[in-house]
Amino acid sequence: MPDHHRILDGLDPEQQRAVLAPRGPVCVLAGAGTGKTRTITRRIAHLIDSGQVNPSQVLAVTFTTRAAGELRSRLRALGIAGPGGSVQAQTFHAAALRQLRYFWPRELSWELLDNKLPVVARAARHAGLATTSESLRDLASEIEWAKASLIGPAGYPEAVAALRRDTPFPADAVADVFDTYERAKRDGAHLLLDFDDLIVYAAELLREPRVAADFRSRYRCFVVDEYQDITPVQQGLLEAWLGERDNLTVVGDANQTIYTFAGATSRFLLDFTRRYPDAILVRLERDYRSTPEVVAVANQVIAGAGERVPGTRLELVGQRSRGPVPRPAEFADELREAHGVAAQIKHLINAGTPPSEIAVLYRVNAQSDRFEEALTEAGIPYQIRGSEAFFTRTEIVQAMGKLRAAAQRDDLPAGVAPAHLVRAVLAPLGLSESEPAGANAKARWESLSALMSVVSEMVADQPGLTFPRVVAELTMRAEERHTPTQAGVTLASLHAAKGLEWDAVFLVGLTEGSVPISQAIDAGPSAIDEERRLFYVGITRAREHLFLSWSLSRSGSSRATRKRTRFLEGIDLDPRRSGRCTVCGAQLVNPESRVRQRCGSCRVEERDEALVSALRSWRADHARRRGMAEHAVLTDAMLDAIAERRPADTRSLGD
Ligand code: ATP
Ligand code: MG
Repeated sequence: MPDHHRILDGLDPEQQRAVLAPRGPVCVLAGAGTGKTRTITRRIAHLIDSGQVNPSQVLAVTFTTRAAGELRSRLRALGIAGPGGSVQAQTFHAAALRQLRYFWPRELSWELLDNKLPVVARAARHAGLATTSESLRDLASEIEWAKASLIGPAGYPEAVAALRRDTPFPADAVADVFDTYERAKRDGAHLLLDFDDLIVYAAELLREPRVAADFRSRYRCFVVDEYQDITPVQQGLLEAWLGERDNLTVVGDANQTIYTFAGATSRFLLDFTRRYPDAILVRLERDYRSTPEVVAVANQVIAGAGERVPGTRLELVGQRSRGPVPRPAEFADELREAHGVAAQIKHLINAGTPPSEIAVLYRVNAQSDRFEEALTEAGIPYQIRGSEAFFTRTEIVQAMGKLRAAAQRDDLPAGVAPAHLVRAVLAPLGLSESEPAGANAKARWESLSALMSVVSEMVADQPGLTFPRVVAELTMRAEERHTPTQAGVTLASLHAAKGLEWDAVFLVGLTEGSVPISQAIDAGPSAIDEERRLFYVGITRAREHLFLSWSLSRSGSSRATRKRTRFLEGIDLDPRRSGRCTVCGAQLVNPESRVRQRCGSCRVEERDEALVSALRSWRADHARRRGMAEHAVLTDAMLDAIAERRPADTRSLGD
């Protein structure tokens, strides 16, 4: 059990206020890198340590497997999750899946639909629509969006008309496909549940008073990280979990809402205190992650958003010491950009930055190819996060098929550990004890070993998982495109990078049409604002080194057809040179000092007001004794300089 001092160790007064708040609703509204995730894990530790809840009564949820893993590892470090403790930290989907497995009525059988596209394709054919693979994916995403937004087939046409939403096919046709798709998943007493159904059905089950009473006696304390990304359907589940209770802590940053296309909305975060008038609201502004230089760029970028929701005007105040100025780089074409980035990475590695502390972030996964090639050529190890690549590898598709078939069998040997069963299924596919010879066999073996290590991690992390649950969790990770962690430079999409941090971050391909993506440019201002938030998420992943690059043409083309992203327009990457506050990036009318260049509000943070007031009264007293109306030597400007510990202009003192 963590001791009290350890719980408050390394927390600032506002973070402590959130941690120590009494049981009940708490909302932490704060910018990137301000310690939201640190704060909630410590709050959980505090609630346990002070005897207010048992570890097993806490359910902490977030939205991606990676973020849930991050939460669990921080809770483990506090000794309250993993094998030694039992706080549940999961994605919404994993928590819903667990709940369904436990409470689902015996007379109905169900399984998780691992790929909805064939079912959507059949429904589209049934509706007489001619689809391409792209429009099929759009249809599937549209159905996902509607379900996440609690919109059914019947209400769909009206809802999209009211929202003036672009639809992949006429609204009535989409509604038709949606309806057929939903029916196709039901076959008598057997149901196929897609990813979104997990949430819908989990909430539905809690309408049953017996289930609700049982669930609510098990879980008494709820925590949500990245609350800005909750969808209405997930919010419904959260409310069903809570019932009449209000022991809920949420943390989020509306400036990091980047999934509105999938139904996420920051409205629940921003409305939290209206919903819970007794809630304790904590705002954090100190950024502990990034250097003031990175913070200044982030502040400038987000300040440019056209539409800023009230409550999101939080300026980050950098707490770290100074670092390198963020570096922009323009390249003639994509290939040169990839090689330029690889060369720069090599340089960082040679200077001592470990490859695992470096990330290359791009807007869409298709951009990763050229960076993969350039890194391979330069002999730099890398891993791709959030790409489809891992779970679409032939051997992994085969392995998942075999695992799913095995999970369906009734004759599984009971109490055999799930990891053993997984190994037994994977062995005939090429998972031998030692690395085989031959390039193909070796590649297969590596993939299967990576899958095996995901399983080992999973069962170590969540003891008590059964074999079918392990397989279902793997299916969810495939759906989320989760990639096993390996050492090396991380290549990831901006979406996949949320909540994470690296010493050095390369934001690449920063051109109009890419960031913001062309569909957003076509869709209009609010879509462009979402792209801006995505760019902000990318910038705020960097602890120290930030590289921003773009290329003027496609590879192999000599014609410059591209333009640098609009989000860098007017952004000063080196606030030290140009009269901007080094903390928040605000433009300074008249920078007073090159050494500590700060705007009024950031300076106030640092002012020693007690010293100012002591000096003022000494000055008044001194002037009175000398019979002066005003003090002739110690000017206000000098007083300010002393209070702010910066060099003062002392010419008025004479020699
Ligand atoms: P994001 O919005 O990106 O999810 P966050 O608000 O959750 O960020 P954390 O990841 O909790 O921020 O913290 C950012 C970094 O700052 C982490 O490395 C964390 O350990 C560190 N940190 C947080 N609070 C403090 C503090 N009071 N003192 C020193 N370091 C801190
Ligand atoms: Mg966080």
